[in-house]
Amino acid sequence: MRGRTPMMQQYMAAKDAHPGVLIAMRVGDFYEFYFEDAEVAASVLQITLTGREDAENGRIAMAGVPYHSVEKYLARLIQSGYKVALCDQIEDPKQAKGLVRRAVTRVLTPGTVVEESMVPAGANNYLSAICVLDGKVGLATLDSSTGEFLVTEIEGDAIKDSILQELARIRPAELLLDDQTADLGELVGNAFGTSVTTLEPEDSRRAEKKILLRFNINNLSSFGLDAKPVAVMAANMVLQYAEKGGLKLEHLETIGTYSIDSFMALDPSTRRSLELTTNLSDGSRKFTLLSVLDQTVTSMGARLLRKWIEQPLLDGTAIRQRLDSVQLLSKVNLDRADLRDALKKVGDIERLVGRCATGVATPRDLVALQITIGSLPELHAPLQKVAQGRIAELMPMLGNHSDLATLLARALAPNPPNALRDGGVIADGYDPGLDQLRALSRDGRKFIAELEAKERESTGIPNLKVGYNNVFGYFLEVNKLAADRVPEHYIRKQTVANAERYITAELKEFESAVLSASEKAQNLEAEIFVRIRTRISENSASLLQAAKAIAELDTLCSLAEVAVRRDYRKPEVVEDEVLEIQQGRHPVVEANGASFVPNDLCINNDQRMMILTGPNMSGKSTYLRQSALIVLMAQIGSFVPARSCRLGICDRIFARIGAKDEIAVGQSTFMVEMVESAFILNHASSSSLVILDEVGRGTSTYDGLAIAWAMLEHLHLLGAKTMFATHYHQLNVLADQLKGVANFRASVKEVGDEIVWTHRILPGGTDKSYGVHVAKKAGVPKSVLVRANEILASLESREALPTVVATSNNKLQLALFEPEEPWLAKELKELDVDDMTPLQAITLLGEWKKLIQTN
Ligand code: ADP
Repeated sequence: MRGRTPMMQQYMAAKDAHPGVLIAMRVGDFYEFYFEDAEVAASVLQITLTGREDAENGRIAMAGVPYHSVEKYLARLIQSGYKVALCDQIEDPKQAKGLVRRAVTRVLTPGTVVEESMVPAGANNYLSAICVLDGKVGLATLDSSTGEFLVTEIEGDAIKDSILQELARIRPAELLLDDQTADLGELVGNAFGTSVTTLEPEDSRRAEKKILLRFNINNLSSFGLDAKPVAVMAANMVLQYAEKGGLKLEHLETIGTYSIDSFMALDPSTRRSLELTTNLSDGSRKFTLLSVLDQTVTSMGARLLRKWIEQPLLDGTAIRQRLDSVQLLSKVNLDRADLRDALKKVGDIERLVGRCATGVATPRDLVALQITIGSLPELHAPLQKVAQGRIAELMPMLGNHSDLATLLARALAPNPPNALRDGGVIADGYDPGLDQLRALSRDGRKFIAELEAKERESTGIPNLKVGYNNVFGYFLEVNKLAADRVPEHYIRKQTVANAERYITAELKEFESAVLSASEKAQNLEAEIFVRIRTRISENSASLLQAAKAIAELDTLCSLAEVAVRRDYRKPEVVEDEVLEIQQGRHPVVEANGASFVPNDLCINNDQRMMILTGPNMSGKSTYLRQSALIVLMAQIGSFVPARSCRLGICDRIFARIGAKDEIAVGQSTFMVEMVESAFILNHASSSSLVILDEVGRGTSTYDGLAIAWAMLEHLHLLGAKTMFATHYHQLNVLADQLKGVANFRASVKEVGDEIVWTHRILPGGTDKSYGVHVAKKAGVPKSVLVRANEILASLESREALPTVVATSNNKLQLALFEPEEPWLAKELKELDVDDMTPLQAITLLGEWKKLIQTN
């Protein structure tokens, strides 16, 4: 039997070392996939599946992509959830004896990519790890593309809920966990499409050692991690995984810690219901709060704004500080415009520095950084005019990067190609050695002409010429007749028909210089490029600090811009447990609709719970959501869509709106509703805002009413600020029974037998649902509407209800049922209905009913 070819051995070794990862083998100018990997690559990338002869396996499946455009193919594989290992040639093929050595140089996974085409500009790309120790969970999160690295420890009774909520906020592209937490992985994978990788963490002692070593520190207390062993384990997990995948993380200078208690906890279904960053209909950012608030002009600002929206604050001072800055910026329209214009020129410093530090930056990245650094001073003038409070604190963070700017300006060619190998990246005049090599390769022809002239003159042979062939390179050719005039130092190499060919020492020296000059220039250029890239990573701390300041300035400007454009007002954050909104609007509905009807809201100690009734489409959900969004906006430091707003800080917002079958998770609508309601009842406090819309609808009327009733009583005991929209007008009696409960209704106007929605929220309940009116507006067939009105009348008047019970053999069986006991047929009748359509038969019912009533 023939053995494996050496290359297949390399392939198998790579495959064994990276289970579950597609292996891309560099062969010549291609990356090739084999066996099942080839099938995956062919189908995901829509490339041809071919074959390759293999000594051991015969013909095997193969698919290949050109190496110079590999990034776009990798991006597609990663996007489809695959991991790919690049198995590269690790020695120069020209110098290799036998088969070129190959090894995996980089493993790309959804959480560790940094390439521009693989990470979204306006959002972070996170790799998270969780591990458990002594009942505590450590959570570490890294964005390799920006250098953000944060850890936290979570403990307490509802630890799993807290972890899930935190992961719902972070939405990591990839999550590392061990067998202990595998069930969580499945949940997160299903819910957020996160790619889950199982990994055994190292114990806390080893993890600590590695972290100390990695960051070159003596003591974990410098990172505030001294009493956080699980967080350290999780951090170590992330680092080991990223670095083992071949990612250099030179820009990671520190690990930040945070406490989930400093931000408002928002459970996954509340985030979903409120449509903060993705909408319910297609999961995009259209019609979301983010889409309305995002007027940022930099990617860093866009990412920070998204973070702010996802992490409302709980600390009044911090909230007021943001609000004050927004106020300051909203008052100076011209200066804000100047500031935003200057910000527009700023590139994505975080990602550019990240790509330098991870070694994937391209020449154009460096130029982008150069332009960006050069534009930073333009921020100063407009900033000077608003240099107060937080903005004044941010200004010095921008730093001075003139040294780096000068270096980049001198070193980089004005319009370099995107690939280093194309040459021409480093400017002429920056490095004398490079200039010389370039001159040599560029001026080779000139040199030949000069040499030819010089030799003609010194030998006196007029038709002497310089030629080139592949066998011995450059030569001097002399006609046979002149051969006797050739000087001694000419070495004869070849005789052709009419001429002799010679070489000289000078010619050979020139030759080796010219021939290798362009290759040498390319190598030297690459060396210089890497040196510059390293210089940038050495400056990453100060550059990243500038990036932070820019992100915050851009985000504050964005909030101010929206506030002015949409006439938002500054909310007043107070110590009392109140929520008073005058003329509140829904930020998203308002931004996407014609005219919006504003409404007031008052929740205070005398009125903590609001029961809202009203027909469908009257604006109940909108009103509930707008109230929750106004609170959330206030607590991220944004102005709000209202004439005025006074609020005490809410510790949490709970929103349960609209029922949706979570078939993927195997739960029915009602089950989901109850799970989520249970969550709210178990977690709400007197400082929480709870908005519940139509809870209890997924079961029978009495069941649903009973559950809703009991839930309201429970929330009333907790003292939570509650808004409850319902069709169960029976709940209106709670206002008489419980202190602090008030009834409101979303009103409609009746015009003839039509209704008109006014979208006004008025005090007092309603017992009319106008369901039939709404059905009519929706285009339900007239016969059904007539019948529905009949049933309604019978139910309301408690009169007997005539019904068609069966049609057969041209006979119609009719019955008269008691509304109280609809299973009891009071009277039965059979009619002959030759050639009658069901519709005609139903019309007949009315006549029969009259008949019975007159009898
Ligand atoms: P409900 O929850 O009562 O069924 P919705 O809140 O879903 O009603 O509102 C139905 C539609 O009415 C919304 O899609 C929105 O376009 C519009 N709407 C709701 N409230 C207002 C308002 N205050 N001003 C203008 N249009 C509104």
